[in-house]
Amino acid sequence: MTNTNKGVNVDAIVIGAGFAGLYMVHRLREAGFSVQAFEAAPDVGGVWYANRYPGARCDSESIIYNYTFSEELIQEWTWTSRFPEQAEILKYLSFVADRLDLRRSIQFNTRIAAAHYDEKQKKWLIYTDEGEKLTAKYFITGVGCLSASNIPNFKGLTSFQGQAYHTGHWPHEKVDFTGKRVGLIGTGSSGIQATPVIAQEAEHLTVFQRTPAYSTPARNYPYDPEFLKQVKENYADIRQKIRWSKMGYLHTIVNDRSALEDSPEQRNEEYEKIWERGGLGFSQTYNDLLVDEAANETASEFIRLKIAETVKDPKVAEKLQPSYYYSAKRPVLDTNYYETFNRENVTLIDVKSSPIVEVTPKGLKTSEQEHELDILVFATGYDAMTGPLFKIDIRGKNGVSLKEKWEDGTQTRTYLGLTTAGFPNMFMITGPESPSVLSNVPISIEQHVEWIGDCMEHMREQGIETIEAKVEAEEAWSKHCFELAQKTLMTKVDSWYTGANIEGKSRGFLIYVGGVGEYRKICDEVAAKNYESFNLTLKTEKIPLS
Ligand code: NAP
Repeated sequence: MTNTNKGVNVDAIVIGAGFAGLYMVHRLREAGFSVQAFEAAPDVGGVWYANRYPGARCDSESIIYNYTFSEELIQEWTWTSRFPEQAEILKYLSFVADRLDLRRSIQFNTRIAAAHYDEKQKKWLIYTDEGEKLTAKYFITGVGCLSASNIPNFKGLTSFQGQAYHTGHWPHEKVDFTGKRVGLIGTGSSGIQATPVIAQEAEHLTVFQRTPAYSTPARNYPYDPEFLKQVKENYADIRQKIRWSKMGYLHTIVNDRSALEDSPEQRNEEYEKIWERGGLGFSQTYNDLLVDEAANETASEFIRLKIAETVKDPKVAEKLQPSYYYSAKRPVLDTNYYETFNRENVTLIDVKSSPIVEVTPKGLKTSEQEHELDILVFATGYDAMTGPLFKIDIRGKNGVSLKEKWEDGTQTRTYLGLTTAGFPNMFMITGPESPSVLSNVPISIEQHVEWIGDCMEHMREQGIETIEAKVEAEEAWSKHCFELAQKTLMTKVDSWYTGANIEGKSRGFLIYVGGVGEYRKICDEVAAKNYESFNLTLKTEKIPLS
């Protein structure tokens, strides 16, 4: 894990050694650029290094939750089951790092504290938290969309005498729940995956739920070797399909018609079929579930009835049934989540009706009672998309920080989710207003990495010194993103998609919903037009090209 390629002045500095940073390092090295990556953790993996909570598993199917750029990597790696668990994904990323000899370009255990653009030198000055200073022409962030964890600022937070963990920063050694009274706050993807696993071991588990989630069954299973053989033989086709798909998945809309066109009986049959199949495809049963309120209600009601059928105590079942639009928040997949509430050792507390008042030395106090706990699990999510970027003091032209630029309450944020005006030669992998978390993320990462790599090669060939999004291009992009999102039900529900989960965060919609294939087309066109929507300056003449 040593780094022998460390330089103080390199072509590019990359932050992060997850899916994004690893491929960026490889892509740039292959193109002959000098590159130095930094990673705060001791090893590669990014969010998959940190998210070790019980039950952590990805909702994307394994065969497409990997890099697709290298035929060798596809042929040499074999997944074991339909949905990859955290440890297996981490092993995969480690395998890639070894196979491509990436660790020598990464400095681990190092957090980047600041990145400041020096207008005179036309370079980025990068400062580590240990005071090291580096310079680079390009500054590239691969910091992840969901890596800045959110622990609500409960009164008495630090007074708890037991063990406390956030799901996104889980310890490496096994947390033993045996004989313990465990409290878990939060019922999003992380809380819903952790609940059944913790319940099996703990003496008692109390789940503190603020908003119930719509969860559908994952139905994980071990892969059949014959199936994997066929996948490997046909990967060129799979690669093409997912790269140009709506969301980077193999599954698409099951019935390309409105849910309202079917009779209630036909609809139930369709929902039942997809429910049995498991996976994220449930939201794709009809083509209007995310845009039409009445159509959405048919899917929402189907799931509510499933919850009512599964959970034996009708009062608990009622509390677990959501009332907002299904899939307007990130849909969740589970393995035996609702069944877990039939266990004697599990209690559900609705903290909307009896809010959490404070954390105490002994546990958690709601407006109704104090719950004594030995272990407290925060499955309380993330300051998504912008949060990881704001953890670094990023300053562009005139010393303006990214935070200042983005938190002024307007919609304008990025151009293509890749760049932002005022920050020349800075690229964000899966930045805000790109498909990112509304897609199979590694596919979106690959597209960004390749676009950035191509752009840098173009600049080198043409003697271009700086590239910076034009303000009008950025305004149009941000507007387009928001208008597309407003056509869906996703902007009508509070969630981390809109920034509503973080107190004081400016609201908007942080993801491009137009689809992975469409987005790729747009980005390709921008490159084909010689980046005319950017201000470009030449190396020697230092005059704008456009
Ligand atoms: P999340 O979806 O944001 O869920 C956070 C939970 O904490 C919500 O139930 C939220 O309630 C609750 N919460 C937050 N603040 C609270 C407070 N002050 N009091 C009480 N409850 C509070 O976070 P997550 O579960 O970590 O998932 C985040 C995203 O990461 C997912 O949507 C997904 O994209 C990704 N992820 C994916 C997987 C997977 O692929 N299987 C697994 C884990 C995470 P409210 O809803 O009321 O705000």
